[in-house]
Amino acid sequence: VGDSADFDSETQSICPFCGVGCQVSLKVKDGRVKYVEGLNGPANEGRLCVKGRFGFDYIHHPHRLTRPLIRREDAPPKGLNVDPGNVSTHFREATWDEALDFAAHGMTRLAQAHGGKTVAGFGSAKCTNEEAYLFQKLIREGFGHNNVDHCTRLCHASSVSALIENVGSGAVTATFNEIENADVAIVIGANPVENHPVAATYFKQFTKRGGKLIVMDPRGVGLRRFASHMLQFRPGADVSMLNAIMATIVEENLYDQQYIEAFTENWEAEKAHLADFSPEKMAPICGIEAEVLRDVARTFAGARSAMIFWGMGVSQHVHGTDNSRCLISLALMTGQIGRPGTGLHPLRGQNNVQGASDAGLIPMFLPDYQSVSDDNVRKAFTDVWGSGDFSNEKGLTVTEIVDDIHAGNTRAMYIQGENPAMSDPDVDHAREAFARLEHLVVQDIFLTETANFADVILPASALYEKSGTVSNTNRQVQMVRPAVAPPGDARQDWAVTVDLARRIGLNWTYTHPREIFAEMALNMKSLDNITWERLEVETVTYPSLSPTDPGQAVVFGDGFPRSRGRARFTPASIIAPNEAPDADYPMILTTGRQLEHWHTGSMTRRSAVLDAVEPEANASLHPATLRDLGVEPGAMLRLTTRRGSIEIMARADRAVSPDMVFVPFAYVEAAANILTNPAVDPYGKIPEFKFAAVKVEPATAI
Ligand code: SF4
Repeated sequence: VGDSADFDSETQSICPFCGVGCQVSLKVKDGRVKYVEGLNGPANEGRLCVKGRFGFDYIHHPHRLTRPLIRREDAPPKGLNVDPGNVSTHFREATWDEALDFAAHGMTRLAQAHGGKTVAGFGSAKCTNEEAYLFQKLIREGFGHNNVDHCTRLCHASSVSALIENVGSGAVTATFNEIENADVAIVIGANPVENHPVAATYFKQFTKRGGKLIVMDPRGVGLRRFASHMLQFRPGADVSMLNAIMATIVEENLYDQQYIEAFTENWEAEKAHLADFSPEKMAPICGIEAEVLRDVARTFAGARSAMIFWGMGVSQHVHGTDNSRCLISLALMTGQIGRPGTGLHPLRGQNNVQGASDAGLIPMFLPDYQSVSDDNVRKAFTDVWGSGDFSNEKGLTVTEIVDDIHAGNTRAMYIQGENPAMSDPDVDHAREAFARLEHLVVQDIFLTETANFADVILPASALYEKSGTVSNTNRQVQMVRPAVAPPGDARQDWAVTVDLARRIGLNWTYTHPREIFAEMALNMKSLDNITWERLEVETVTYPSLSPTDPGQAVVFGDGFPRSRGRARFTPASIIAPNEAPDADYPMILTTGRQLEHWHTGSMTRRSAVLDAVEPEANASLHPATLRDLGVEPGAMLRLTTRRGSIEIMARADRAVSPDMVFVPFAYVEAAANILTNPAVDPYGKIPEFKFAAVKVEPATAI
């Protein structure tokens, strides 16, 4: 490691991976980050996981894009066919002026010929708040509509939809660190040991001091060793299980009548609805014994203070919004919200998915979740922007834009720091769409699978090369600072977006992210009392009640930002997964992340340590299932759904139930999303990544 004298500089910044938002110190020698150390940030107190500690060297990988690129006229047809180590077969280098002119002209030409809606945008939860704000502004101001989205659509859109509907705000009601004030915590549909590892350390500490941890997941995830109750329920049976727990609370009079009367509405409807969901009736549906459901109900309702954490196992279903509605109702009926050690916490995935959503990178909302359909809201923004009005219609989501390309309406896209050619469900359908685009501008740090389809590629910066702010799962706004310069001619994303905006005719004059942050604060109440200058010296949790208030770790103690200050019970009924296993596809496919690899793998698979630990794609199955298939761990399997097939190595894992197969989605050579079902939740429009009917067979049998 060495001491500080061994490094040329040390820079404080934020880990670029998950939503925990660990503060890091970056030790730099000869223009390269050599070592990363955890700092005493509010979310990590010096801790880091393997990704934050060792997964930094991707920023120096030889595949980094260093020059703007334009597709060669003699390039082969668009497809997933570019070698990221040798892009010259498909692209030629260009100057920034030529590439930006080309990018802007392609978009404006199509917009003028066919209307502004011809051009859609995907921004990024990997970029800063300021970059996300500029991106949505460019689409809205430049092209007059709201067809702009980002990966929140693929992770917690249904959670946000239920939270806005029922408590009036899409963010967490309490930081995860509040677990230290709780007696009981539920963790459902989340695997924090792998996906939010530093948050998981707080959960483990909570159990060490006697806290009761109730883990609910179809997979026996890593926290099971620490759980007082482990409910390995049937995949897709969330609503039946949660309603049975709430039905017990009603039946045994364990609810908090005083809280319900003071702070909620629609209780009588919820209570009547739950009468149909007794634990005895639900047990065969969810696969958990009635007495266990009753015990969990008594444990949660009887706690002095209790919290609920959830992940994408809850949200990525066609009934994802209903799942979250149940969790919200459970907290409301027991009064487990608004006090220290209580609350609702959807564990946000990407390092800045909270901030990018707050900044308006969503087709139905402007910054701070203000509706695009509200004339006064739009006017407040156009007054600040000095521009004309834009559409009051909600825009298209990620998967709707892909369908809109196939329908021949969307003809051009600007994609910044997202990799939908790996992350979208039924990804072959998405790849075909990107190949059809007449003009695709991709701004990224690597030649991602999506960049394979680009007409022009703009080389961008990694987080450790840029200035700006990010907001973590705790609503904590933190400053990121450049430790090293971007390679070659690569530039910071905000600066590229500004130059592109000018070329499509917008009068943008920003010269530094602090100016963008100041503009955001004009129309974002969540940023009241938070300034760039404050963030240079401290982390601030929003809402902050005064210029010296570090922010509110727990919110809604005195009511909710809804009519009459009341939260709402919205009853949820059982909705089956979109496709059920049958004779042709008898098993259940579920997808997710691994500890070592981040999302589509573009960064972590280029990190030497992480790639050495998890070098190959693998599918996890129960050892008994592998025995039934007649294969050993390490053998190749063929997985087939109604969308397509992949071949992938088998891994034995007792945590996976015998009727399931788990596939991480980081590996292009065995892309899990070739298999996934694009059916979406009707409210959050999130795809059902967590449930598809699949056939599993030895690859050699084909
Ligand atoms: Fe980074 Fe998340 Fe690990 Fe912290 S827990 S080091 S933010 S990946």
